[in-house]
Amino acid sequence: MTNNKQIGKWLTDMNLGYPLTIAGPCSAETEEQVLEIAHQLKHSKVTIFRAGVWKPRTRPGGFEGIGKKALPWLQRIKKETGLLIAIEVANAKHVKLALEHDIDILWIGARTTANPFAVQEIADALEGSDKIVLIKNPVNPDLALWIGGVERIYKAGIQNLGVIHRGFSSYRKINYRNQPNWQIPIDFKTQFPDIPLICDPSHICGRRDCIENIAQTALDLQYDGLIIETHHNPDEAWSDAKQQITPNVLHAIVKRLVVRAKKFKDEKFIVALELLRKEINETDKLLLQTLSERMQIVRKIGTVKKERNVAVLQTKRWKDVIKKMGQYASLAGLDVNFVTRLFKEVHQESIRQQEEIVNRK
Ligand code: PEP
Ligand code: MN
Repeated sequence: MTNNKQIGKWLTDMNLGYPLTIAGPCSAETEEQVLEIAHQLKHSKVTIFRAGVWKPRTRPGGFEGIGKKALPWLQRIKKETGLLIAIEVANAKHVKLALEHDIDILWIGARTTANPFAVQEIADALEGSDKIVLIKNPVNPDLALWIGGVERIYKAGIQNLGVIHRGFSSYRKINYRNQPNWQIPIDFKTQFPDIPLICDPSHICGRRDCIENIAQTALDLQYDGLIIETHHNPDEAWSDAKQQITPNVLHAIVKRLVVRAKKFKDEKFIVALELLRKEINETDKLLLQTLSERMQIVRKIGTVKKERNVAVLQTKRWKDVIKKMGQYASLAGLDVNFVTRLFKEVHQESIRQQEEIVNRK
């Protein structure tokens, strides 16, 4: 799958614009609703209309989608507006119906990507199709599972592929409905640079006010496109009401987004950047050197603890460290949350090293 330019060729061949902009409601609700939204979206940067027809709901009893009844509505949208149509598929029956109704793009939802049996069933039903298939990241932050999902579809002979980053579920929800964990899609992109990467700010945010920010970050990270839930009357939407925005708000956001150059040509700029990067490399070496020194001291403490038969984790000491580091962080102009996260990692490694020492026979 690596280095197969064919995989992402559809994006340039089809002239779908940069950034590729997919919009439409979380769910198709009525024929009037989808038509109204689609007509408000045409003549804009949006080239693909999304709508969920079968909705994977966390708990039963909610609105689980209109089902196949909505497929002719979407065909009508394609005819009237020229927008391509994207829907979610979660099993072989969905794929069959999507193919019968000439749906252009099929996406695999986050809950489905997490289940290799379901992805394989979809792959088998798609065998040899020339449709575009977009694979969302699995709900859990597992890069290998995401790659596995893409591989299953690729092995079924699907050449037109893309992936969607929609954030990752976490027990403690602080700022986001689904944590973005940007490093995971960066790792994906590094391994598979030819697979188009699309960001879904709606499902990352779970609310309207952070969509623009997340979309801008995605563009700054060289994403190829965005998928944003859009509804003519978001507050009344039958699913995901809190995160949907009107077509007008979407147009305004898309207009404000800054598209930055992916590559640079200016000689002076290249030289300046190179110098700064050299400085970073030197600083990184110093950081590692300091970390290594810290771990040597950690191991010495480990030996002392072993001699005295003292527990590795000393909660009071750990609380002091994290408090002090928080104070230093502010003084050093660093983000306290970042420093806390960093020291939690460092502390875990310190514990691992001391565990090795105290348990050595
Ligand atoms: C959706 O796009 O409406 C959806 C259900 O998303 P996800 O699979 O990312 O939860
Ligand atoms: Mn949704």
